[in-house]
Amino acid sequence: MEEKLISFTKEVDAWIEDNCPQSMRTPMPVSEQVWASSSIEFPCNDSRVWFDAMVSKGWCTPEWPVEYGGGGLSFEESKILKSRLKFFGCRPAQINFGISMLGPVILEFGTDDQKKEFLPKISRGEIWWCQGFSEPGAGSDLANLSTTAKLIDGEYIINGSKIWTSEANKADWMYCLVRTAKTEKKQAGISFILINLKQPKIDIKPIKLLSGQSPFCQVFFDDVIASESHRLADENDGWKVAKRLLEFERTMMADMGSEGAVDIEPIETFKTSDALSAPGQLNLLTKIKKHEMRNHLIDLTMTRTQIESKNGFSPAALSLKYISTEETQARWELNVASLGAGGLENVENSSGIKKEIAKSFFYSKAYTIAGGSSEVQLNIISKHILGLPS
Ligand SMILES: Cc1cc2nc3c(=O)[nH]c(=O)nc-3n(C[C@H](O)[C@H](O)[C@H](O)COP(=O)(O)OP(=O)(O)OC[C@H]3O[C@@H](n4cnc5c(N)ncnc54)[C@H](O)[C@@H]3O)c2cc1C
Repeated sequence: MEEKLISFTKEVDAWIEDNCPQSMRTPMPVSEQVWASSSIEFPCNDSRVWFDAMVSKGWCTPEWPVEYGGGGLSFEESKILKSRLKFFGCRPAQINFGISMLGPVILEFGTDDQKKEFLPKISRGEIWWCQGFSEPGAGSDLANLSTTAKLIDGEYIINGSKIWTSEANKADWMYCLVRTAKTEKKQAGISFILINLKQPKIDIKPIKLLSGQSPFCQVFFDDVIASESHRLADENDGWKVAKRLLEFERTMMADMGSEGAVDIEPIETFKTSDALSAPGQLNLLTKIKKHEMRNHLIDLTMTRTQIESKNGFSPAALSLKYISTEETQARWELNVASLGAGGLENVENSSGIKKEIAKSFFYSKAYTIAGGSSEVQLNIISKHILGLPS
């Protein structure tokens, strides 16, 4: 490693030592996540201290320019920062789709005014963004969307509805795909606009799930207004922005692979237990080892695609979402298996780690649907990597 990068690594380690409270260096339960929002809440003082430290350093968005609230780091420095944060087990200072998905497309397609207006607020965690892509008739076939936006005197008037919008009831703004023209090729009449949700004529209805929780919403627009200045790219040219954003979403989901509310702890316990000699358990240990190796390979491929993407198209990136989310499901299945025959028994009344595992196990089923289902990812791989006919 270059001298400069060695000294940067030392600088990062010292900074983490001084600024990251010990309690922020432990696995993070879902209940202690800090979500970026205009009404941001911290579960404890340490999480606020850690958030403030990361934000003031610009390290929640390490590669963004300093003038937009970023850290101004190079790709190599940012890679070191991320790996040292991981090494010390530091929690993410904030959960923010603005950082992982929207910000990068604003940097790529936004005007100077849009960058100045949104990027600093995003990196400081001041906006909760939700994603208004899917509609009742447009999921896998996203370009089939029919929510309309009509431009009148510098303002879009929006009508229609979005579905499966995660956390829309808590969000401040939505980045949204709308139809601005009826064209033969469906993709050619779509625009990408940013909508302030704090206005009348937006009706947000939570969709109750079997679990009783409602992270999903259906959002209804009835003459809702968005400024023309909040459209990214030209009118009717929003599909390219959407495609790019989906790439960032899929990379983010692929990167979540080895994370989890409880970080495979029972498997660790199992490995050291005397029960190894019991029938079937050696088989389970073999599966765990294979999973760990595959996870390591996914991490290596992720790093390779990040380097390749800097210089253009990385074919392997197209396969990562599929491979990684399928592996995440395998991880939680192994976690449940390691709990033994009663793994999912009586989940309602269980507590602690058993409950966390059960919740993560059930939720992991969603990973192969969100951001584009596994079947659709396989279609993309067969067309764009293997060159098979569509
Ligand atoms: C946890 C989670 C969070 C989400 N959050 C959001 C959000 O915030 N914002 C948002 O806009 N959307 C969100 N979604 C919606 C998500 O993008 C869609 O569910 C997804 O794109 C699939 O669309 P669909 O549900 O309409 O299923 P459909 O498109 O109706 O698909 C149904 C089934 O048919 C299969 N299928 C469809 N087309 C093909 C094909 N061509 N070849 C082979 N098989 C096919 C699919 O794989 C699937 O199994 C979320 C979904 C989940 C699970």
